[in-house]
Amino acid sequence: MDFGFSSGDEEFRREARAWLAGHVDGTLDRPTWERTLGKAGWIGLSWGAEGYGNRRLCLTQQVVWAEEYARSGAPARSGHIGENLLAPTLLAHGTEEQRGRFLPPVAAGEELWCQGYSEPGAGSDLAGVTTRAERDGDGTYRITGQKIWTSLAHEADWCFVLARTEAGSRRHHGLTFLLVPMDQPGRIEVRPIRQLTGTSEFNEVFFDGACARAEHVVGGEGAGWGVAMSLLGFERGVSTLAQQIGFAGELGRVLRAAVDSGAVEDPVVRERLVRQWAELRVMRWNALRTLGGSAEAGGAANVAKLLWGGWHQRLGELAVLVRGAAAGVGPVDWSAGAPYELDAAQHLFMFSRADTIYGGSDQIQRTIIAERVLGLPRESKGIKGVG
Ligand SMILES: Cc1cc2nc3c(=O)[nH]c(=O)nc-3n(C[C@H](O)[C@H](O)[C@H](O)COP(=O)(O)OP(=O)(O)OC[C@H]3O[C@@H](n4cnc5c(N)ncnc54)[C@H](O)[C@@H]3O)c2cc1C
Repeated sequence: MDFGFSSGDEEFRREARAWLAGHVDGTLDRPTWERTLGKAGWIGLSWGAEGYGNRRLCLTQQVVWAEEYARSGAPARSGHIGENLLAPTLLAHGTEEQRGRFLPPVAAGEELWCQGYSEPGAGSDLAGVTTRAERDGDGTYRITGQKIWTSLAHEADWCFVLARTEAGSRRHHGLTFLLVPMDQPGRIEVRPIRQLTGTSEFNEVFFDGACARAEHVVGGEGAGWGVAMSLLGFERGVSTLAQQIGFAGELGRVLRAAVDSGAVEDPVVRERLVRQWAELRVMRWNALRTLGGSAEAGGAANVAKLLWGGWHQRLGELAVLVRGAAAGVGPVDWSAGAPYELDAAQHLFMFSRADTIYGGSDQIQRTIIAERVLGLPRESKGIKGVG
């Protein structure tokens, strides 16, 4: 199945590839890399038409950029939460002032964002949020509570926070979507959570009377649930295809490792490798089929998440299996605080344990597919997956 790239798309592909080849060298820290991308106009590729982003690319060219980015070995983006989640949400629900204030720094790679949804008692069941935001006499909101698993909070300048503004409200009522500056010493504390991989991509975030301005409420007080759900709907499409380019690269490396170690002679390993290859093809066709969102109502995004989460986890297991006993060597240094060394296969194995949790766990995806696609009877309370 061919996506049908035009000659204009291919010309754009050459431009993107040439720029990436000239700039990806692994020397820049992540915030500097974001500003480099912003300066060259590679952030906000589709919101030019709205008057804020850098370009007005059509869908196929957005796919081309995402594919070339994944192929180039460029670093994982720390600006993706601002670009891909916050920006479309502000375009859909924000005021003109909010768009004018927040979108240009996202497009320039100058302000980074994090997502303050999950709490210790509210993950899959996001309507259980208990963080409070109370309005002062001068209109400022004072936020008190705890968020958890907040990816990149340690790098972020701003956080969008789902908080309860109506005392005594329950479930999805009385919630508000607030834009909160992170630089509030004594009122916001970010504590890194060390992961299995030895690194800390996510954090606990404690709010103790943190301030948010009244004009930084998105969608109006009490309308936070609708805004929060709409934001979750923006994670799809273009990025899925880019992700699959990354997956193909990883599968290729696992395959080479299997040949090198001789594991490929084992019929069970061969069968698993072929299965991974075939399933990746199916995921690509499914992504191409649903690109543009027309099949969203049919649960396409939930099916895609369910497929790729498990697929990537199985690839991680295969990556260490084909290495044999050598995969068990390391970490090299268990001493206090030292980040331990993992090679790519070990990192893939460990990090992919999270793939069936974030963005809505497998169980939650199955429930959504059961209820919304298959029409089975509903569970007793609403559930959503986030992050
Ligand atoms: C790498 C990573 C990054 C993340 N980044 C962010 C972020 O930036 N911002 C943010 O807000 N959150 C983030 N999260 C949090 C993520 O959204 C939650 O972990 C996820 O929604 C699950 O919630 P929970 O951890 O509270 O688990 P729980 O909801 O407590 O679930 C525990 C287990 O019970 C199952 N379960 C729960 N309810 C049901 C049910 N009704 N039926 C059947 N099974 C059920 C789940 O599937 C899971 O297996 C991140 C998580 C990870 C792993």
